Amino acid sequence: MPAATAYNQFRLGDFTVTTVNDGTTVMENPQGTFGTDQSVETVSELLEAHYLPTEKLVNGFAPTVVNTGSDIVLFDTGLGEGARGNGLGQLSARMAAAGIAPEDVTIVVITHMHPDHIGGLMEGDKPAFPNARYVTGQAEYDFWADDARAGTPGERVHNLVKAKVMPLAEKMTFIGDGGEVVPGITGMAAVGHTPGHMIYRLESGGRQLVVTADTANHFVLSLQRPEWEVRFDMDKAMAAKSRKTVFDMIAADRLPFIGYHMPFPSVGFVEKMDTGYRFIPETYQFDL
Ligand SMILES: [Zn+2]
Repeated sequence: MPAATAYNQFRLGDFTVTTVNDGTTVMENPQGTFGTDQSVETVSELLEAHYLPTEKLVNGFAPTVVNTGSDIVLFDTGLGEGARGNGLGQLSARMAAAGIAPEDVTIVVITHMHPDHIGGLMEGDKPAFPNARYVTGQAEYDFWADDARAGTPGERVHNLVKAKVMPLAEKMTFIGDGGEVVPGITGMAAVGHTPGHMIYRLESGGRQLVVTADTANHFVLSLQRPEWEVRFDMDKAMAAKSRKTVFDMIAADRLPFIGYHMPFPSVGFVEKMDTGYRFIPETYQFDL
């Protein structure tokens, strides 16, 4: 692996947006995760057409910090201390490289409660962002906090939510579709990946951007074939429907987006194609 870029920063109107590289991991067998309803050959062909290896893929994790001028809002927290031995869980160290201390964060937004998004909420038995309050989707919290998850495939995440999220519940605001975090940051339900998965629209000074979280989890396999089934999507049909709704909107409105698992710095655009969308990484669009 090449040396990792710690962070990427740009202006969006009056907001300063920083994507932070929590780390990357190599996954075996892409066909076992993406396009699980397709033949191995079909998935491999799409990878080869984009000069990507067919045996392995690189997955990255990009929490985002938005400085609105009055708040420092962190979207998702990476894998946290449990993954640090594997070179992941680098959020705090790499925020520091961007001059942002954990104490500076005033609001932590959790898009959904998979381990790679909530793992960094606690550091030992203490909140990793000691001065923050929290915002998350009501439906997401209600699903994972429910003891009915015990003995189901959701048990592992339920236990992690009990350890990392529920201790913070007193300082949490629960929102639904259209709920506001602060002026200029609005939540939008995009369910399917998880039952309460939410994305966030940023708007400042006439500029907009969408934090799409895990609506699409690979820049080729998920965006070009949005209908393909993905192992991580809990309701596969609903996740595909949300992918199309969200990326149709982003393409039609020509909006930039930040995708948590897009190649770092995880910022780009999409063009709508006959089938799916073509990912166009951001280069200097915010710098001129
Ligand atoms: Zn994720």
